Amino acid sequence: MISVGINGYGTIGKRVADAVRAQPDMEVAGVAKTRPNFEAQSAVEKGFDLYAAIEDRKPRFAEAGIDLAGDVEELVAQSDIVVDACPSGIGADNAEMYREYDTPALLQGGEDSDVVDGSFNARSNYDTVEGADLVRVVSCNTTGLSRLVAPLQESYGIEKVRTTLVRRGGDPAQSGRGPINDILPNPVSLPSHHGPDVNTIFPELDIDTLGLKVPATLMHMHSVNVTLESEPTAEEVRSLLDDQRRTFVIPEWLGLDGAGAIKELAQDAGRPRADIWENCIWGESISMEGSDLYLFQAIHQESDVVPENVDAIRAVLGEASREESMATTDEAMGLDA
Ligand code: NAD
Repeated sequence: MISVGINGYGTIGKRVADAVRAQPDMEVAGVAKTRPNFEAQSAVEKGFDLYAAIEDRKPRFAEAGIDLAGDVEELVAQSDIVVDACPSGIGADNAEMYREYDTPALLQGGEDSDVVDGSFNARSNYDTVEGADLVRVVSCNTTGLSRLVAPLQESYGIEKVRTTLVRRGGDPAQSGRGPINDILPNPVSLPSHHGPDVNTIFPELDIDTLGLKVPATLMHMHSVNVTLESEPTAEEVRSLLDDQRRTFVIPEWLGLDGAGAIKELAQDAGRPRADIWENCIWGESISMEGSDLYLFQAIHQESDVVPENVDAIRAVLGEASREESMATTDEAMGLDA
């Protein structure tokens, strides 16, 4: 069994912990938190050993009546690999601790790519990270774009990608984020950071991205134009994307007209936390004009990186091939359901 420590038990960390626990070849060594809150309480209720991320704050856990299993350094020492899901920038600060204990670690998309040995997306570059000490699982948007680029590039060749990302203002629990009632070009100057981030996975890809922020918490939406090197029919592209793991081509008859309806479907299906791990691509939006492909896709920011973290664990430790790992991850998480 691969023993996985989770440092940072928030939006991403708690989801990764559940996904790791569901795998037949992995176990959760424990989770580390900075303070006792509802997420710490839920970790304990789920039976995860809880470690203190900051030593000075240990008394606060005792005051809240939450038992600790030890300090984060003990967790790092006993884990085969750590998934660091701390807020942006803290992962980079933690890198030294992972090196000190010779424990490989996965950082998240909020970290700079130059902090790590490599950036990761399972579909696109699974084989490039074996044996690495520090790997970054790219952000939700970069994951969503990479899943799209990989099959298109392999099947048709790509001349240029242009994408406008309509981004949710914050996650549902991020009450301090916004805008509340506005539409912001964000960033105003081009390119947004997403294109260069996709280049950490596809260094040669010609990609321009623009970003906006809107008053929504549900999902991100991408308006995508890809100039291909050949001219497949829209139907061929639809079936290519439909055949991929983790891309859900929405049939018209489902009547999913937006992110709200997709979230409702996830709730009806009994998905944990109403998570949507797949890219949601509107089938009728997939159009070809000459060699130009157009489509809309929605990306659930809180969860699409979760199966990618699970695969990155096997990829770094050299435990399975890409196809084996993705199939195991998807089956254990219920991705096809
Ligand atoms: P979050 O704020 O929801 O969770 C972070 C957790 O880490 C919190 O529980 C916080 O208390 C804890 N923490 C803070 N400092 C810590 C420390 N020193 N040691 C241990 N734990 C500490 O953040 P998140 O949304 O889960 O984001 C985590 C990372 O994942 C970031 O790099 C982010 O960019 C990336 N990411 C986030 C999303 C998203 O939409 N939420 C999507 C993809 C990637």
